[in-house]
Amino acid sequence: MTTLTMKFGGTSVGSPEAFAQAANIVLEQAQKWDHLVVVVSAMSGVTDALIRGALTAASGDGQTYHAIATDLRACHYRAVDTLLEPDGERSSLLAVVDEYLDGFAAFCHSVHILGEVTPRAMDAISSLGERISARILAAVLRQQGAHSEAVDATELIVTDDTFQNAAPLLEATRARVSARLAPLLDEGIIPVVTGFIGATEDGVTTTLGRGGSDYTAAILGDCLDADEVWTWTDVDGVMTADPRIVPDARVIPVLSYSEVGELAYFGAKVLHPRTIRPVIERGIPLWVKNTFNPTCPGTRIVHEPESAPSTVKAVTAIKGLSMVTVEGRGMMGVPGIAARTFSAVAGRGASVLMIVQASSEQSICFIIPTEAVPPVIRAIEEEMALELGRGDIDRVWSLDDVVIVTAVGAGMRGTPGIAARIFGALGRGNINIIAIAQGSSECSISLVVMADDAADAVRQIHSEVILNAGPET
Ligand code: ADP
Ligand code: ASP
Ligand code: MG
Repeated sequence: MTTLTMKFGGTSVGSPEAFAQAANIVLEQAQKWDHLVVVVSAMSGVTDALIRGALTAASGDGQTYHAIATDLRACHYRAVDTLLEPDGERSSLLAVVDEYLDGFAAFCHSVHILGEVTPRAMDAISSLGERISARILAAVLRQQGAHSEAVDATELIVTDDTFQNAAPLLEATRARVSARLAPLLDEGIIPVVTGFIGATEDGVTTTLGRGGSDYTAAILGDCLDADEVWTWTDVDGVMTADPRIVPDARVIPVLSYSEVGELAYFGAKVLHPRTIRPVIERGIPLWVKNTFNPTCPGTRIVHEPESAPSTVKAVTAIKGLSMVTVEGRGMMGVPGIAARTFSAVAGRGASVLMIVQASSEQSICFIIPTEAVPPVIRAIEEEMALELGRGDIDRVWSLDDVVIVTAVGAGMRGTPGIAARIFGALGRGNINIIAIAQGSSECSISLVVMADDAADAVRQIHSEVILNAGPET
């Protein structure tokens, strides 16, 4: 028995034409595999719009969410009207769209009255896009003669209750997947599962974090013991840089799990960072492919890095960050400052992307998302009130608008001179480096630069260090 799990991202169902293309790909692969499971994201832009509706409603704006509901209705109606025959499932699908978007408006109305949106409410709202797109895709497949059924992942993926960033509970999920999906597969039905969402053991909807549909595909691939997991997107695979920043970026044919993990962690949106864990653990091959260029093989993610000495394979950037510095001349003598600083940060639930060694030993610096800065600084100031009062710590401050630029490649491990080439490239580009860190996995080097310099830094490293290193293998 061969099993394939395929995920279509938001851009792969972003228009009626894209939906049709995704459906063609599903039908083609359905001929080739015994079991095929499809995971689908919301149409591109829909999750952002849903979240914006909730946030504006919470901030006292009673209008915007209505306008968003109208836009979303128009975009889904257009897909349904274009894709589904009037004498087929068109009208029942339009009713589905109405049902979920009426639900959206009702949720936003409550949020507006309450004046706040809890993470739990946000998940109920942001999960709606996937619920609609899965139903549309399943109906399109049925219209083409396939047996297909939309399945809400709330029935499959059991998670903890960390709303907006829930972690799957794999044993419980495995049991649900085999109870719910296996019978469908045995009957030759293609399940179209909502990406991104899950539910707690009590059935409360959760989401797996932004970009989480990749994770859904990986979890299902793991639970079904799939032979392969494919994620379909709008570029030819994982590339040497974000093609929107670097137009001459090239596809990387093969990448190791650790390399892609590093890339994803440092902002290459093409794969969700946690996706690779379940597939690594099972050794399941993962491919990233282009819905709009399906004959291109794409990128294959493999277990072990290919030895391509002294190569940097890709460069990426992550934006929206700030560097927080705790500094003071009296810090050196005081034990436990670092531990207390980071436990104060953790207490606010902020994730630290990078810890950097400052030029002197009299400070601790770390990078966090900008929105986490005010609570984090407050938490550190509370924790260090005594030291601040005594003057052991002078101040806790942040530098905003910084970007982490990361060069990734397993061939960097133990290869001298890579850092020098990167710094040389940036020097020639006149780009000031604020801080540097080497990834503990030794397959990445990260630099902090100001946001205004980020695109230049990426292009500079791409042209001098990646393209100049000769063809990728
Ligand atoms: P999807 O809707 O398929 O999940 P995403 O928008 O999440 O798509 O991810 C695909 C996008 O990731 C591409 O359109 C591309 O602009 C961006 N991207 C960033 N870095 C890279 C990279 N190194 N390789 C490929 N794509 C990248
Ligand atoms: N629709 C969700 C998001 O925009 C999940 C995904 O696209 O993977 O974050
Ligand atoms: Mg994505």
